Amino acid sequence: MKENRHVRILAGFTIAYILLALSWWSVLLWQKNRQVHELQLVVHTLREDLGTADPSDRVRIDQRHRRQSRMILGESVFMLLSISIGIWLMLRGFMAEFRIGRQRRNFLFAITHELKTPVAALRLILDTFRRKDLPPAKSGPLLDSAIRETDRLADTLDNLLLTARISHTYQPRPEEAWLDDQVTKWMAGPKRQFPQRILEWELPEEPLPLRLDWAGLEVVVRNLIENAIKYSPEQGKVMLVVRHQDDGLHLEVSDEGSGIPDPEKGRIFDMFYRSGNEDQRETKGTGLGLYLAREITHRNGGTIRVADQRPRGSRFIVHWPVHHEASAGRRR
Ligand code: ADP
Repeated sequence: MKENRHVRILAGFTIAYILLALSWWSVLLWQKNRQVHELQLVVHTLREDLGTADPSDRVRIDQRHRRQSRMILGESVFMLLSISIGIWLMLRGFMAEFRIGRQRRNFLFAITHELKTPVAALRLILDTFRRKDLPPAKSGPLLDSAIRETDRLADTLDNLLLTARISHTYQPRPEEAWLDDQVTKWMAGPKRQFPQRILEWELPEEPLPLRLDWAGLEVVVRNLIENAIKYSPEQGKVMLVVRHQDDGLHLEVSDEGSGIPDPEKGRIFDMFYRSGNEDQRETKGTGLGLYLAREITHRNGGTIRVADQRPRGSRFIVHWPVHHEASAGRRR
């Protein structure tokens, strides 16, 4: 970090020196050009006094001076501009590299934490079971907690494996299923993991059989709901709304949390992006959830965006095209 600061200071000095030197040489050249012009005029006046001057020389001297002044000005401005643009592009690349480096470090830190914490909790619970003969009143909550930790570990591993697959082998796999069955399945996990939270959902009234990549859509909704729970207060409501429109499914996941500031809205879908500093951050996560949600949605031809929820919170809006309606067969 310290080395980095030294390099940045040195780079700053070098850039400032190049720009100053260039400006200085341009001014000097300009002055020299003016002096040469003045000298030429003196020589011309002497020649006139001696009666050897050609009257057209005066016009030529002035024309040459004007041409050379224009050339010095043009070249200086062009060089200053191209050097400035080059420096700006270099700095932008440098800043992007720096940001990616920091996000990678944060990711490693976060992933270690996300994997170690549930494993340590599970070990502790198993240890307790081995050492003590617990009555059902005590073993029940401990088992619930073990299942919650296992779910959390499984979610983190799912996200990691999917991230590794997403750019190479991931293919949407359309299957036929009933919308209400799928939504009930999606909500079962968060309800078990967060029994104290208010989780509500709204569906089309008619049961609907659809053919789409349900596994992909589940990853998207799971990550959005987990985030809504994570980034909103305990008493805040988390809501999933699903509507069926002519061109596909329209889904919205909203919460009553602190919301997302406008400058961050475009960046939260980037890989590893997490707002704030890893050392001070209180929420758990790896910065992969929204990246995966966006990639999977795009692979299925859909769109995802974030908006503010009134009076507070965020609202993630997903449009998921359904190209082939399922045969409206009987529910098994
Ligand atoms: P993670 O949650 O693991 O940090 P995500 O990719 O899911 O990673 O989210 C990226 C960032 O977007 C989060 O770190 C958080 O700052 C912000 N974010 C995502 N969802 C919400 C939400 N519902 N409310 C507020 N901030 C959110």
